[in-house]
Amino acid sequence: MIRIKCPYCGERDHSEFTYGSDASIEYPNLESNAKDWTEAIFFRKNIYGKQIETWHHTNGCRLWLIIERCTITHKIFSIKPAHPEIHKLLKNQNNI
Ligand SMILES: [Zn+2]
Repeated sequence: MIRIKCPYCGERDHSEFTYGSDASIEYPNLESNAKDWTEAIFFRKNIYGKQIETWHHTNGCRLWLIIERCTITHKIFSIKPAHPEIHKLLKNQNNI
């Protein structure tokens, strides 16, 4: 079982989250050719060890997180908001 500490909601079971993808992928610009897009979308490394991933807190705050996790042990090394500017907006609105 993986426990994920959402920066907004606190520690939760991983079943509340949905895995997004490998967060280290750099997508080509919109004018790039089909070959570059095909490689970016369909040809992924199967990382054995530490990987940076995107996760969506689907059954919580519904915000995206960047999680550094070991694919072997599932140990989580770091968690941060994918869009920190949203956190600033929420802080200003709710005085948190
Ligand atoms: Zn959350």
